[in-house]
Amino acid sequence: MTFPDIVPDLKARMPQLRGRLLANQPLGEFTWFRVGGPAQVFFMPDDENDLAYFLRNLPAAMPVTTIGAGSNLIVRDGGVAGVVVRLGRGFNDIKVEDNDRVVAGSAMLDVMVARAAQNAGIAGLAFLSGIPGTIGGALRMNGGAYGGETKDILIEARGVDRQGNIRSFSNAEMGFSYRHCGIADDVIFTAAVLQGWPGEPEQIAAEMAAIKDKRAASQPRNRTGGSTFKNPPGHSAWKLVDEAGCRGLKVGQAQVSELHSNFLISLDGASAADIETLGETVRARVQAHCGIELEWEIKRIGVSA
Ligand SMILES: Cc1cc2nc3c(=O)[nH]c(=O)nc-3n(C[C@H](O)[C@H](O)[C@H](O)COP(=O)(O)OP(=O)(O)OC[C@H]3O[C@@H](n4cnc5c(N)ncnc54)[C@H](O)[C@@H]3O)c2cc1C
Repeated sequence: MTFPDIVPDLKARMPQLRGRLLANQPLGEFTWFRVGGPAQVFFMPDDENDLAYFLRNLPAAMPVTTIGAGSNLIVRDGGVAGVVVRLGRGFNDIKVEDNDRVVAGSAMLDVMVARAAQNAGIAGLAFLSGIPGTIGGALRMNGGAYGGETKDILIEARGVDRQGNIRSFSNAEMGFSYRHCGIADDVIFTAAVLQGWPGEPEQIAAEMAAIKDKRAASQPRNRTGGSTFKNPPGHSAWKLVDEAGCRGLKVGQAQVSELHSNFLISLDGASAADIETLGETVRARVQAHCGIELEWEIKRIGVSA
C-alpha cells in the first residue's frame, strides 16, 4: 500500500527546510519487530530549529507521529498517514556538566548516555544501559528498569510542540507515571537534562555489566518490542500470561517468547497483524483466565493493511 505523495507540496511550502523529506518510506526497518507499512511522509530534521520551522509550516490538520529506535513500537501493515518524524544526527549531542548532570539529545541511545555518565563517574543513570531505546523514547515512556525510572533522573526536557514552539518541561510538568508521560502526544522531545550523583566509574561499570548479564539470561534481544503489557497493580504481566497458558503461543508468524512470556517475537515473514492479533489473543486469554485486563505497553501506530 502507498499513500498519495505530498512531499512536493510540502517542499514548496517550506523553501528553507534543511532536513530530508521522503514519500512512502517503509518503516519496518526502523523498528525492532522489523515489520509494518510506510510513512506517508518521513521527515528527518537537521536540528531543532529545522523541526520547529517544519511544524510551524505544516498544515494544521496533518497528523504527526514520532519514532525513536522503534524498540517499543508496532507499525501496522497499512502504514502511517501524515508525517512520521525521526530524529537523527542533529539530536545526538551529549554533554557532561560539572554538577553530575548529563545533557543529552533525544536521538541519543540510552546506553550511550549511561556509558557517558559511567565514564564521568556519575552514578544513577546505569539503569538506562538496559533499555534499548533513545532518550526521546525514555521521556515518552518513562522508561525504567531495575528500580530506576526516567522520572527519577530528569531535571528538564526540551521539545517542540505541534505549532512549532520550542518549549521546556520541568519534571513535574512531564506528568510521569508508570510507563507514561502526560505531555501531549504531538510534542517531540529534543533533549533532556539528567541528574545523577558522584560515583566510582568501576563500580558503575560493574552495575552495568550485571544488568547486561541479567538481560541476556532472561530476555530475547531480537525482533521483539520488549514488555508487551504493563504490569497491572499488584501483578506481573509475564506471570499472568504464563498462567493463562500463553508462553510459546503462536499466531501466524508471531510468537510469545519461550524465554520471557511478556515478550512477543516476530518470526520470519511475520506481519504487524500477526503480532497485534497475538497480543490481543493473549489479552483475551488472560482476561478469561483471571479476569484481569492487560494494558498494552507497546505503542501501536498506523492503520491495518
Ligand atoms: C529487548 C528490549 C528490552 C526492553 N527493556 C525495557 C526496560 O527494561 N524498560 C523499559 O522501560 N522499556 C524497555 N523496552 C522498551 C523500549 O526500549 C522503551 O520503551 C524505550 O524507551 C523506547 O524508546 P524508543 O526510542 O525505541 O521509542 P519508540 O519505540 O520508537 O517509540 C515509543 C514511544 O515513544 C515516542 N517517542 C519516541 N521518540 C520520541 C521523541 N523524541 N519525542 C516524543 N515522543 C517520542 C513514540 O512516539 C512512541 O509513542 C525494551 C525493549 C526491548 C526491545
